[in-house]
Amino acid sequence: MEQNDTNDDRSRKSSMTTTITAGGDAAPASTGAGIGKIPATWDLAADVVVVGAGAAGLAAAIKAVDAGASVIVVETNYDVGGHAIISGGNTPLGGGTSAQKKYGIEDSPDLVFSDLTDWSIVQPNGWPDYRYNDRAVMRAFADHCALTYEFLLENGVTFKDIPPDNQGGHNLGNSAPRENHLTWTKGAGLESPNARAGTSLVRPLEANARAKGVRFLLNYKMTGLIREPSAEQKAGRVIGVAARHTARIMPGRTTPLGSFRSGGNIEATQPSVTIRARKAVILATGGSTGNVNFRRMFDPRLTDALQVAGEPYSFQDASGELAATAVGASLWGFANQTLENGDNIRTKRALATRYNYMTWELESPIFPLVRATGLNVQDWQDLILVNQVGKRFYDETKGDYPHGNVYNEIHPYTPHDYRNNENIKFNPTKYNFFNAAVAMNEYSEPPDYSAGPVWAIFDADAAEREKWKLTRPYVDTDGYFFSAKTLPELAAAIKNPYQARPMVGAVLQATVDRYNSFVESGVDLDFGKPGLKHRIQTPPFYAAWATPLVHDTRAGLRINNKCRVMDMNGQVIPGLYCAGESAGGFNQHGLGRCTTQGYIAGKNAATERSEG
Ligand SMILES: Cc1cc2nc3c(=O)[nH]c(=O)nc-3n(C[C@H](O)[C@H](O)[C@H](O)COP(=O)(O)OP(=O)(O)OC[C@H]3O[C@@H](n4cnc5c(N)ncnc54)[C@H](O)[C@@H]3O)c2cc1C
Repeated sequence: MEQNDTNDDRSRKSSMTTTITAGGDAAPASTGAGIGKIPATWDLAADVVVVGAGAAGLAAAIKAVDAGASVIVVETNYDVGGHAIISGGNTPLGGGTSAQKKYGIEDSPDLVFSDLTDWSIVQPNGWPDYRYNDRAVMRAFADHCALTYEFLLENGVTFKDIPPDNQGGHNLGNSAPRENHLTWTKGAGLESPNARAGTSLVRPLEANARAKGVRFLLNYKMTGLIREPSAEQKAGRVIGVAARHTARIMPGRTTPLGSFRSGGNIEATQPSVTIRARKAVILATGGSTGNVNFRRMFDPRLTDALQVAGEPYSFQDASGELAATAVGASLWGFANQTLENGDNIRTKRALATRYNYMTWELESPIFPLVRATGLNVQDWQDLILVNQVGKRFYDETKGDYPHGNVYNEIHPYTPHDYRNNENIKFNPTKYNFFNAAVAMNEYSEPPDYSAGPVWAIFDADAAEREKWKLTRPYVDTDGYFFSAKTLPELAAAIKNPYQARPMVGAVLQATVDRYNSFVESGVDLDFGKPGLKHRIQTPPFYAAWATPLVHDTRAGLRINNKCRVMDMNGQVIPGLYCAGESAGGFNQHGLGRCTTQGYIAGKNAATERSEG
């Protein structure tokens, strides 16, 4: 029956009593995880075990320790932060924050709730981004949004002292500006994997968590949940996690990176550990976009050629979702993952590097994994984009994903009035790079009909105009950047793990000849690219990786208003919580929803009865 709870456990018998092992990319039976696999002794114990030390996990850990719980955070990476630490730091939080009040902006939890459940709103490409939000999850977010903003301030996070705006945000609601911007100064002494604004969210939270007694188990990956069997006297509680050692060793290093920050680190070296959670486990594992088979459940086109934003610092490998579903949890809000909106949609930014969502700095400690900074494009007239068989498919000057539904974008706006559609600036054509690039079309083939990589093709003149340096470490010559004296030789040179079959030289030559004829005539008869400027004619010729990527997870585990995970019967799984991108039912990009759900989960997990 009921899915949103008040205070009681509402624990029910689960229909699943068989032993199941669980978890992510490696879930060997030897992890001992699953239903009824209760270890005779536990290696570690705490009241609350948080899995994942990103935006949601750090907020959850602090909120739980503030409420008197002992907390262990298990993090698979060598350092904390997850996607949050390399994020752009635009933080959507409203509902009456002190910043909104300071600048005279009227907002309230009710207004946030109304906005984010307004079925009548669609994005500029026509997709309804609020329509499929879970009302209970939205209500909980709306009620805790401003509280989370103040909580972040209390824990040392600083935002620019400017009025909240709508810059860099999407799906924030039309009624009030709600985007806050983290203060970030490069070189201010905050250690960062890539000098990104998200660092100034993560490091203060980390410092406060450590100071308050949260203990971190870095370099350990949660491989499964341990759940009591349900029986007459047993609630089928989640009582702990299994984890295995995952020290990341970079090329050229003999020792693992990390565990460098002492004071609160649990030093462990055994291959696997079990951790007892006396009150609750909070999954804050960051989502599923990096797990190809998992993401293809939502959209079969998302084959392995697509990369994921945030990699290779941290990986959204669905390990939280898989571990939870293995002990009976339900997934939720699938539609939100399939909608082509905001940062679900996948962008092209830096060329000639596999990790092409942003420019990685040479000083990054993980640069040996990144391998190349990539090339930023000033003028899309300098190149064409071709698919894996060497054919153009798009107007290269067009944007690649919609930003939409922020303050004042729909004007006038009447909440929940179907006529709002009349005031939306539709422009579906502008946002079809991704569809054009990955559509199942004549160019894709068995076994999975992947449309394969996208390549930017340009010549020596273009490189000169863009002032690109075409050597390592700016381009990745190991499969992501190629050059040749002729176009047929260039096509033959392209060798990449995701290129299903060789590009045919005659096809690429014909594509470039046709494009050059369009430049001569001034009209792109194929895709309508305006203002054609440059022929591609001066050797050497180049091919640079320009494949789109997957960015956000918007569907995940079913949670209720307290971030408690629900099973397939709509009942709470006692002792299990989820927050952030691994939680379903909430279609919004980023840090606001993740920190807020961390706040809710940490607060409620700490109030659970202590078991054992
Ligand atoms: C490049 C980039 C820019 C962004 N810019 C913005 C922005 O400007 N504004 C905004 O609002 N949002 C932004 N985002 C999105 C935002 O960073 C994420 O939505 C947010 O960090 C997700 O929080 P989370 O806690 O769910 O996951 P994360 O912050 O990714 O944390 C998840 C953590 O869980 C760990 N983990 C995963 N599996 C396991 C396991 N099995 N065991 C142990 N640990 C595990 C991961 O290593 C990671 O540390 C950006 C994202 C990226 C990648």
